[in-house]
Amino acid sequence: MMCAFCKGKETKNILDKYLVTLDGTVLIVNDVPTMECVQCGEKFYTDDVSEKLEKIVNKARTIPAEILMTDYSECNAIEVVR
Ligand SMILES: [Zn+2]
Repeated sequence: MMCAFCKGKETKNILDKYLVTLDGTVLIVNDVPTMECVQCGEKFYTDDVSEKLEKIVNKARTIPAEILMTDYSECNAIEVVR
């Protein structure tokens, strides 16, 4: 997959944290399959992963909490940290 930012052709597959703030709630998703550009270090996701992250985010929005955490592979169970 080509990097959309620097057009670098070399990317590596890693598992990384995805962290987003939603109206005062911090959502952390662990072990997200992430593509990292070897050239510029930019991180991005395949369409499948983006879609799944969007679903997790939509579900997280319905849970009132300060901090939520889940694993990418176990995202049906969103844990309230605080
Ligand atoms: Zn790049």
